[in-house]
Amino acid sequence: TIKSFGLYLHIPFCRRICPFCPYNKCLYRKDKADEYCRALSQELRRYKEIFHGARVDSVYVGGGTPTSITSNLVQLIDEIGDLFNTCGLIGVEAHPDDLNYDNLRLLRNAGINMLSVGVQTFNSRLLRIIGRTYDGIAAQRAVRAAFDAGFDTVDVDLIFALPGQKVEDVVNDVAVSFELGAHQVSTYPLIIFPYTGMDAYIKRLGLKKTGMAAEKEMLEAIVSLAEKCGYRRTSIWTFTREGAPRYSSVTRERFVGIGAGAASLNSGYFYLNTFDVEQYIETVRKGLPVSVGMKLPVRVEMLYWLYWRMYDMEISAARFEELFQESLQHRFGLLLDVLRFSGMIAVTGDSIRLTKKGAYFFHLVEKGHSWDYLCRVWAGSLREPWPSQISF
Ligand code: SF4
Repeated sequence: TIKSFGLYLHIPFCRRICPFCPYNKCLYRKDKADEYCRALSQELRRYKEIFHGARVDSVYVGGGTPTSITSNLVQLIDEIGDLFNTCGLIGVEAHPDDLNYDNLRLLRNAGINMLSVGVQTFNSRLLRIIGRTYDGIAAQRAVRAAFDAGFDTVDVDLIFALPGQKVEDVVNDVAVSFELGAHQVSTYPLIIFPYTGMDAYIKRLGLKKTGMAAEKEMLEAIVSLAEKCGYRRTSIWTFTREGAPRYSSVTRERFVGIGAGAASLNSGYFYLNTFDVEQYIETVRKGLPVSVGMKLPVRVEMLYWLYWRMYDMEISAARFEELFQESLQHRFGLLLDVLRFSGMIAVTGDSIRLTKKGAYFFHLVEKGHSWDYLCRVWAGSLREPWPSQISF
């Protein structure tokens, strides 16, 4: 039994596949998308029975490209409101190509209050390199349209360390986002997952991957510009305007993932749905479409929680104690001492915050986590709909 959880919905459809993309996605087809949405609705009903009476304290829709099926999405949001006792924010990832007047009005009227616009970069040359379908001017127009539609939070999603990108290109992207008035700017480093074929693609274009030193310089330039412009660092890769609510998909304490490849963390378990869209649709008719999962020993649950709080830059000792009925100092005192003495964290009362040095170290840890953990899980799950096991 759980009292509340965050809901994540995965929409795998895209109109075009980007060469760098590691996510679970497939090309959009209307009949397939309609069938998939009916399956999502079935899975939502199953969770209503399982967690009867629990509150949904946030909804996040990611992909793929959720806005490729805007009218279906609006129906699903409506249905979530009917099925669950919902409160909190509803966020959706949006593709710049989809942000026309009609779609924006539909999304806003459905009660969606946060929009994350997947711009990647405002530089038209780089957009062509990474296979995006719009140019820099169109990307700016899309962000402005999102503001005009009246969303409470507009997040601009950027990628840095793209092949052929310079520090000044990165600074320009972030500066344009701030000038446009973004409530939040998320800047993720390009992580090349071996199974995407991005390595070979870069070589074919005669370009080079960004080295570690240049990537560090880019991150430092982003941090310094954000500080100057009054944006607070709310995760190692996210900068939020003072007073704006934080928008995030990955850092909830308890969540239920709906859809192909969606992950869930609740009741002491971490588990994933099958990544295969056909198998997902087929299986959800009979039960939950879970493909792999693990019971988390309490210590692992604590470490998982700490990991994402470090990603958030801040750990609350009081919240740890509330969740795990044990003092953070008692359980992880030695680890915290090592981090403090090496200048990675600063402690103020009950709150522990990563320093700049700690944040850079964690940037490397997060990339390592993606290469090792995420890459194994996603590659294994993309290869086989029902992997017999995934080892670490
Ligand atoms: S990056 Fe986004 S739009 Fe491109 S293929 Fe991946 S999910 Fe689709």
